[in-house]
Amino acid sequence: MELLNFFLLLRLRWLVFGRLAPTNNPKPLKNMAKVYGAVTIEAQRCKGCDLCVVACPADVLLLQPKEVNDRGYHYAFAANPEKCIGCAACATVCPDACIEVYRVVEK
Ligand code: SF4
Ligand code: SF4
Repeated sequence: MELLNFFLLLRLRWLVFGRLAPTNNPKPLKNMAKVYGAVTIEAQRCKGCDLCVVACPADVLLLQPKEVNDRGYHYAFAANPEKCIGCAACATVCPDACIEVYRVVEK
């Protein structure tokens, strides 16, 4: 009888407090700051090598399809700036250091 009471108590505890083990689907934390990136590209120094476009995981960058800079290159620009995650892969691969990446924290 005592054993039955023990299990009933466990069951009651389960119903009231839920599972004690952490779940695989934690609820998202509220009020977490959103971090995104912003890139600036020096168009006149760009030689249109396309490395940054290929390196970007978020499809932010493209080469200008028609316009060229003073040196005659189709330069890179941020076609989808709102997608930037601030990973800095583009700045890392650019051989001419044309790109600067900023992390913007939205509170
Ligand atoms: S910082 Fe990352 S996501 Fe943003 S443009 Fe550069 S490679 Fe793309
Ligand atoms: S990697 Fe640098 S030089 Fe090459 S296209 Fe991008 S910005 Fe221009």
